Amino acid sequence: MTLPIYVQGAWFVGALLFIFGLKGMSSPASARKGIIIAGYGMLVAIAATFLIPGLQNLALMALALALGGSAAWISGKKVKMTDMPQMVAIYNGMGGGAAAAIAAIEFAKGDAHSLATTVLAVIGALIGAVSFTGSCVAWAKLQGVLKKAHRLPAQNAVNVVLALIAIGLGGAMVAMAPAQPELIFGFFAVALILGLVVTLPIGGADMPVVISLFNAFTGLAVGFEGYVLGNPSLIIAGIVVGAAGTLLTQLMAKAMNRPISNILFTPMVASGPGEAISGSMKELSGLDAAAMMRYASKVIIVPGYGMAVAHAQHKVWEMTSILEEAGVEVKFAIHPVAGRMPGHMNVLLAEAGVPYDKIFDLDEINGEFGQADVALIIGANDVVNPSARTDKASPIYGMPILNADQAQNVIVIKRGKGTGYSGVENALFYTDNCRMLYGDAQPMAGEIIQHLKAMG
Ligand code: NDP
Repeated sequence: MTLPIYVQGAWFVGALLFIFGLKGMSSPASARKGIIIAGYGMLVAIAATFLIPGLQNLALMALALALGGSAAWISGKKVKMTDMPQMVAIYNGMGGGAAAAIAAIEFAKGDAHSLATTVLAVIGALIGAVSFTGSCVAWAKLQGVLKKAHRLPAQNAVNVVLALIAIGLGGAMVAMAPAQPELIFGFFAVALILGLVVTLPIGGADMPVVISLFNAFTGLAVGFEGYVLGNPSLIIAGIVVGAAGTLLTQLMAKAMNRPISNILFTPMVASGPGEAISGSMKELSGLDAAAMMRYASKVIIVPGYGMAVAHAQHKVWEMTSILEEAGVEVKFAIHPVAGRMPGHMNVLLAEAGVPYDKIFDLDEINGEFGQADVALIIGANDVVNPSARTDKASPIYGMPILNADQAQNVIVIKRGKGTGYSGVENALFYTDNCRMLYGDAQPMAGEIIQHLKAMG
């Protein structure tokens, strides 16, 4: 069916808004505006869809929009910053599921499509279905519903066999188009199981990369289904998400020094007993920590997941401002996978009003720790663990880390002896130049502020 020019035109405008929105998201300063522009793009694309002549089931469409829209609105308003990765995972899964559902309907209708369109529909359906169940597993793991990584015997062989069966059934659907309902059902069942089976064994710190990979998959699936439906908005949105997701996946895999194939097919576990850690953890008081920083020339702050859970970013910025007024140079060092989602720390610091020119990425700041009098680590652990450099048995071996251990003095604010996300002990905390300041990050930052104020 040829669509009216106003529908095509509106979809095209929607697609342009997605591209402008994504451009805005490339910098923290314009990210909020970018999201809003992309949101308008979505609004235009959806509104235009209702203008397609001869649409049926309008009431059902409106109901689906009302239900989905309200669920997203409420969960978006309520979600805690630390729970964002799960939310991204589940929304992404919905996108993949929607792409697969579009394909399922097209197959079930049995309308004649060209060979190229059928092939794309099958590929989109496969990727979308895998992404749907895989993202659901990712959500369950990050939400703590699924606590363990479940690995089958001969896991990789099972993955390959399932993938081959799914591809074989997809090929049969193309060859026999229009396919029988049994074949369509079998294809989707295997594709959905494949997503589950591939994702269940993946655990720990690899999960964000997997979510990003599924995000890229969902983009591709949506793009392919956009082609099937002749909808330029879906094609462009899909390509944009697919490309952005692929780049993000590569960046994160590089930041963790784990090839994507390793992430998918090799469990992240210690490969041996690990290097013995000598020394002991030495405590210091809030007053000593304040004095060390007040009389330092340069302090580098390393925020981590603990700062996010404690909502300590505002206090940390207040402390920074006092130190700067006293003539101390203060910089923030951000590891690409600090916290629980890409850009987590940047978002929190931006929310607290920390200027962007004080925030540095790993590559930019790592050479400066040697000149810092104090590295103040606030609720970070894995991202400053020197075992990642030396301990081949460590599950985080090879992950580039922030060189906090090279500072003259290291102060670590954390509540106790808890490990980081990867569950491994941190050798840094036992070194001679490291002191532990035990407590929740927010009251601790508050205490340091009080002491700094008293010092004048
Ligand atoms: P970690 O998870 O390694 O460590 C956080 C530390 O914060 C813990 O050791 C904990 O110790 C401390 N902590 C917890 N709550 C508080 C609190 N209220 N006040 C003070 N301290 C607290 O964090 P990092 O940011 O260093 O590393 C991130 C890890 O998460 C990496 O392994 C990364 O791969 C992984 N990951 C990253 C994602 C991303 O995209 N950024 C997504 C998912 C995982 P204690 O209990 O003793 O207080």
